Amino acid sequence: MIWIDDRLVPESSASVSYMDRGYYFGDGIYEVFRVYGGRMYEADAHYERLERSAREIGLKLPYTRKETDAILVSLIEREKARNATIYMQVTRGVAPRSHAFPAGAKPVMMAYCNDTPRPTPTMEKGITAITRPDIRWLRCDLKTLNLLGSVLAKQEAAELGADDVILHRDGVVTECSASNLIIVKDGALHTHPADHLILHGITRAVVLRLARERGVEVRERPFTLEELRKADEAFLTSTIMEITPIVQIDGLPVGGGEPGPFTHRLQHDFEATIPHN
Ligand code: PMP
Repeated sequence: MIWIDDRLVPESSASVSYMDRGYYFGDGIYEVFRVYGGRMYEADAHYERLERSAREIGLKLPYTRKETDAILVSLIEREKARNATIYMQVTRGVAPRSHAFPAGAKPVMMAYCNDTPRPTPTMEKGITAITRPDIRWLRCDLKTLNLLGSVLAKQEAAELGADDVILHRDGVVTECSASNLIIVKDGALHTHPADHLILHGITRAVVLRLARERGVEVRERPFTLEELRKADEAFLTSTIMEITPIVQIDGLPVGGGEPGPFTHRLQHDFEATIPHN
């Protein structure tokens, strides 16, 4: 079942107008929520980010937080979801093609809930990555539908047989194609500051909090490709991939070429934040 335009419909009858501004301009925002044991994880943080993205692009959300939450919870219940993800997006609505905001268009929300297994194999084994220039725009802090920069980067990785892409701007590492990047060097975590050049990941925030609680030094500062290559450990964080070690970058091993002890410890601490049924 899909929630679209104020109602819940079977997937086969869900449709959007060819004049939807999401389709023409990528004029909209989205969120991906995790469901563990039938319950949403860090829901308030996701709603806050959604509301901020909406505010920053001048989009009025069609429902209050409470109403949105009731819709998403009904999707979980309807699908009897245990471990799942909810995808939701809101576009600026349907109007004849013209760049400036249309007068009177009604924002369109779409949402669905899919079973999504925990990424256990990759969390254990780690993944490989390549580095590529970050050609995205300058508001990567907004979770908008304009994802072409990430799409092209990820496609390049796929063609080269790598699992993911680490993006950099003139040699300064920002994040991955759909996740944040954290490196470990001499016992401290380093990650790009949460400014306009990266998405303010919910998983990133949880991980940095857990590290600080353990007394691990956390340095939110820009670091270079060269520092990345000398890292003891590297891992990405995201709602879907959780904490996934990166064991090889541009064909060279990271540290010992296997998931490292800091990554393991944070995975363990993260596990304890997940409500189990
Ligand atoms: N950066 C980008 C570009 C992303 O698309 C995502 C996935 N939402 C993240 C970081 C990770 O954010 P989160 O932990 O909130 O899923």
